[in-house]
Amino acid sequence: MSKLRYERPVIKKLETDMPNKFGLRTEYKPMTHIDEVAVKDLAGQYGSPLFVISEETIRRTYNEAKKAFTTRYPKVQFAWSYKTNYLNAVCKVFHQEGSWAEVVSGFEYDKALLNGVPGNKIIFNGPDKNENDLEKAISNNSFIHIDHLDELYTVIELSKKTDKKPRVAIRINMDTGIYPMWDRFGFNYENGQAWDALNKIMRSPTLELVGLHCHIGTFMLSPEAYAAAAYKLADLALGIKKKYDHNIKYIDMGGGFASKNTLKGSYLPGSDINPTFDDFAEAITTALTNSNFEPDQLPTLFLETGRALVDEAGFLIGSVISNKRSSAGKRTTIIDIGVNILFTSFWYDHKITPAQPFTHYAEETTLYGPLCMNIDVVRESVNLPLLNKGDYFVIHHVGAYNMTQWMQFITLRPNVVMIGMDKKPYLIRQSETLEMVTKLESVPEHLKKANL
Ligand SMILES: *Cc1c(COP(=O)(O)O)cnc(C)c1O
Repeated sequence: MSKLRYERPVIKKLETDMPNKFGLRTEYKPMTHIDEVAVKDLAGQYGSPLFVISEETIRRTYNEAKKAFTTRYPKVQFAWSYKTNYLNAVCKVFHQEGSWAEVVSGFEYDKALLNGVPGNKIIFNGPDKNENDLEKAISNNSFIHIDHLDELYTVIELSKKTDKKPRVAIRINMDTGIYPMWDRFGFNYENGQAWDALNKIMRSPTLELVGLHCHIGTFMLSPEAYAAAAYKLADLALGIKKKYDHNIKYIDMGGGFASKNTLKGSYLPGSDINPTFDDFAEAITTALTNSNFEPDQLPTLFLETGRALVDEAGFLIGSVISNKRSSAGKRTTIIDIGVNILFTSFWYDHKITPAQPFTHYAEETTLYGPLCMNIDVVRESVNLPLLNKGDYFVIHHVGAYNMTQWMQFITLRPNVVMIGMDKKPYLIRQSETLEMVTKLESVPEHLKKANL
């Protein structure tokens, strides 16, 4: 009889109760305070709905991620993904912690410069960089991550008009075992497009190839996919060394680590089952250190982690407008938060906690937003204690993508406050006014007079 395979035992803490046959009980305790500031006071002072960002949580999460990588690999540099949350105060926290900027448009590029990021610490990604953007990036010595051949040709042309040598990398897409494959950005590894672009760059005397980049997906739940990607980038880097005797300076693994949110349809909460920074770091750094780089020629590891660094730091306070029964008798609650400001409710089951004490009675509830639109459903079904008109609640893990993808639609976008390290709230984005929104409009002369 062959011996059974030994597997080392693992203990993993579950942060919520075990599910019973009715599913997971949602909440046991109200969330009366965020970083020691009373939810009631925040809503009283800044209105409801209200986005709240915890500076302390950003710094703590960033340092956890940094530690996971720097304890395993000698050279690591994070660059803050602007599109994930580009409120200046948020970006500044990351820049204070030492994070560079990762941008995907001319608008984001300028925002990073205004936030005090030197041009040579900006990574410029994305498929749509116009000539102006590229000229600026070249003159500022930024890292230009080329997405397609037309962009490469433009950079080559522009480089002939200046004595600066553009610092370029290419974005590479590849099969990492995750499907559908993200193959629309950059050059493909398997079919040789990547080599084609690399050869063109290496034969252009006016360009300097400094790195290799990938961003294999978003809300990734599989560290193994990153290991596969890191091996492929290492293979290209070693191939460039062999063929051209050229050392690239960095390998950029992009972003995409899952945050602690729970994807719709998942049985267990994301906070219990999603991989941790340690899991991702272990996969990536093992692949790089096991590749055939000379120990003193290991490339710097760049990371453009977005959602996993900021999601948990964001909260959204809301209040109840009304309770109703559906035609089938199900409890439905109308809240003052719509999908126009909580974009991520389309793919997450966001955790929701009442902000005041409640009884042990709970009921399956549908949460509707305030918009006069059928799609405005924040939670299809959530087991919540009973809430009354005017009661406050807190929606968790909303720091990523909501404050950039939000829409001015039917209602105005709300205030955003940051709770500082001193546990005091600071207004970091003012709620919109009718005047701000209409300021951009103009009415032709012949339409100025109403005829009623
Ligand atoms: C959006 C984006 C990121 C950040 O992705 P997350 O999934 O939020 O971590 C990083 N790099 C690039 C190129 C991106 O487009």
